[in-house]
Amino acid sequence: MSDATPKINLLGLSPAKMEAFFADIGEKKFRAQQMLKWIHQLGESDFSKMTNMSKGLREKLAEVSEITLPEVVYHDVSTDGTQKWVMRMPGGSSIETVYIPEKERGTLCISSQIGCSLDCSFCSTGKQGFNRDLTVSEIIGQVFVAAMSFHEPGERRERKITNVVLMGMGEPLLNFDNVVDAIHLMMDDNAYGLSKRRVTLSTSGVVPMIDKLGDVTDVSLAISLHAPNDALRNQLVPLNKKYPIKELIAATNRYLAKLPDRRKATIEYTLIDGVNDDMEHAIELAQLMKQVPCKINLIPFNPFPNSGYKRPSNNRVYRFRDHLIEQGHIVTIRTTRGDDIDAACGQLVGRVEDRTRRSARYINAVQIDESDAPSAI
Ligand code: SAH
Ligand code: SF4
Repeated sequence: MSDATPKINLLGLSPAKMEAFFADIGEKKFRAQQMLKWIHQLGESDFSKMTNMSKGLREKLAEVSEITLPEVVYHDVSTDGTQKWVMRMPGGSSIETVYIPEKERGTLCISSQIGCSLDCSFCSTGKQGFNRDLTVSEIIGQVFVAAMSFHEPGERRERKITNVVLMGMGEPLLNFDNVVDAIHLMMDDNAYGLSKRRVTLSTSGVVPMIDKLGDVTDVSLAISLHAPNDALRNQLVPLNKKYPIKELIAATNRYLAKLPDRRKATIEYTLIDGVNDDMEHAIELAQLMKQVPCKINLIPFNPFPNSGYKRPSNNRVYRFRDHLIEQGHIVTIRTTRGDDIDAACGQLVGRVEDRTRRSARYINAVQIDESDAPSAI
């Protein structure tokens, strides 16, 4: 290999691609499994320490590949145990990853893109526009960084991360191939070994990609609905003009039908004061959601500067929820965690250099209270 050829970053190779890589350099399949374990379970990025590989192989690996980890520029722990990492990406932009510990689980919320092209009216990521897709190593690197921060060298990795939600910055289905490779790593027993029920992809409704997703994985699906009819959803989620609610519901049902178990979809509904949180909306939503096996997750809007929207009062939130429950739905309300470290549900970072401790940047750090939902979000 000439000096000009860039080295392959093994951090971002899916299990299948890791096998192909080792096949390419004339090595057997089990080497791929060993490498996945070194990287994702033991956190090792130095080939010379990979003692179950021969010296010759280690030298060959160092020649053609590398293990490049994300650059963490900030890490903080909230008084409620929520943790946040800010990672700088090549090019200067930053992304945030948030860990939310709860009694029975620990949820990691990760990003799939820098920015987002879909411009939902209540989302600060959308308001910033689209910068670029994250690579596989940048997506899985978020899980790596969080997992390793809980890992004491020499000890068996404790399973602190039980759930991963793709609910940070970006629309995961618009970075399909990279997100799917990262999901395969999350679920691989030689890497993070998470079960399909505990990895949740949230989408604003890219209908053809929901179908494609169902062909390659069986993770849990969350749909960002936010409105019970097309007229209102067109305003909040512009993508609805392309894929209206009826098509979205049909795609969700097709996805659920492909799953090997009887899992429900999560329907996310951000409640915005005076916009989509009236009784008439609750009534319409309760009716509409009878078409999909689902649990409904209400998210009181998290304000950000110049959003033009307000968070509803608790009374309005409870009134909305109670109607859905009366109609037989499973409903949870997502509460904010990590307020003191700016890790609240809402969104995003820009450049770290601008960061002040109480800046108005957010990411989706989420928690369910009053939860009767069995898993994930
Ligand atoms: N693009 C994907 C995943 C990222 S957004 C999607 O839209 O589903 C993850 C969730 O956070 C979405 O349900 C989104 O609607 C919600 N969200 C975005 N901005 C918010 C805000 N300001 N307050 C509360 N929830 C918000
Ligand atoms: Fe993008 Fe999701 Fe934000 Fe909409 S809510 S702009 S799809 S990140």
